[in-house]
Amino acid sequence: MLRVEEALEQVLAAVSPLEAEEKPLLTALGQVLAEDVVSRLDVPPWDNSAMDGYAVRAEDASSATLKRPVTLPVAGEVAAGQRPPALSPHTALRIMTGAPLPPGADAVVRFEDTDEEERRATKKDLGQISIHVPVVPSRNVRRAGEDLRQGERVLTRGTPLGAAHLGVLASLGRDTVRVHRRPVVAVLATGDELTPPGGELEPGHIYDINTYTTAALVRGIGGIPKVLGIARDTVDSVAEKMEQARDADLLLTSAGVSKGYYDLVKEVLASYGDLRLWEVRMRPGKPVAFGIIRGRKGSPWRRHVPHLGLPGNPVSSMVVFHILARPAILKMMGHASWESRAVEAILEEPIVNDDGRRVYARAVLTEREGETHARLTGAQGSNILSSMAKATGLAICPEDVPVMPVGAKVRVELLD
Ligand code: AMP
Ligand code: MG
Repeated sequence: MLRVEEALEQVLAAVSPLEAEEKPLLTALGQVLAEDVVSRLDVPPWDNSAMDGYAVRAEDASSATLKRPVTLPVAGEVAAGQRPPALSPHTALRIMTGAPLPPGADAVVRFEDTDEEERRATKKDLGQISIHVPVVPSRNVRRAGEDLRQGERVLTRGTPLGAAHLGVLASLGRDTVRVHRRPVVAVLATGDELTPPGGELEPGHIYDINTYTTAALVRGIGGIPKVLGIARDTVDSVAEKMEQARDADLLLTSAGVSKGYYDLVKEVLASYGDLRLWEVRMRPGKPVAFGIIRGRKGSPWRRHVPHLGLPGNPVSSMVVFHILARPAILKMMGHASWESRAVEAILEEPIVNDDGRRVYARAVLTEREGETHARLTGAQGSNILSSMAKATGLAICPEDVPVMPVGAKVRVELLD
């Protein structure tokens, strides 16, 4: 049996970050930067006011106090978006937040530090203003370039773009950005017993679950699922559906990898690639297939498509996705790391490991008295999807630990 790390290493070795594309900023959320971003201007581009108030020369009001205010004539007003007039010595200019600092001014006095309100309330002359606090240079002034400096590298290649990163790009005047392309992931369910949801169930049939869980997991981490539907358990049916994966970056099939059915998939893939069946030392999810599809003999595909054959049981299929497919998709997206977030928690129920595999137990986390506790979400059979729906994480019992008792510290990988 293969260790989880060995399986992951082989899957990761088969994929690379996808090529870069230039995308409109609004569509690039969650994609990974494929360029270093250097600022072509200062942000903000010029000194401006951080407050609504009065622009002054600090030296004209450096002695002001509430008892002995300094009164200056108000020479005009400047709002955000306007070009400011120059400030003459011994005068003030009314200024709004974000307005450029007038040449000659070096500080802004907030309305609250003047008699502005009192003058308004008593309908007094607003042609002058009394300042109540000593003014020092640079007070309430945002300096040009204090956020970003021209020529500075502000974002590095490999950064996943969140809202703030898109905002930084917008602040530089960019409306497009170079990011790694999102992988197209073909999703194929196999099984004679499967009926697509929406129709009536025939005797002996079940609804196809894995198409939905797999496609959702792909989309959830930023891939583009391409749903191929359901292949029947015949060589022709699987082969026909597989043809639709030729332009994908990854093919994820489900089922047909447990011992009874492997012959079928093996037969198809013998002519398409070099599929290997793995027994990975994990529970759930022991049977996993992995290979590279090169197209049919005599009609090779333009490019080679890595293929991960997930187990058929819905929980196993989701857990194997989490452990093997997710890192591969994140690598293709250009991410530099693909470890899932994990927390340490106190186990509230034992985890039993009776055959030396790494156990991924469905768990939910709760906070109590400043500590994180992990409770299992019910029956752990690999067909019990309801306990997956309740889980926020996978609590891990290592291969060589036969039982983790109540109270043990357990590592929980988060399913987000
Ligand atoms: P197999 O690997 O084909 O032996 O399938 C293992 C188990 O998973 C069987 O109980 C199948 O019915 C079930 N299974 C396979 N594919 C799906 C699917 N797409 N949705 C729900 N259950 C499935
Ligand atoms: Mg089957």
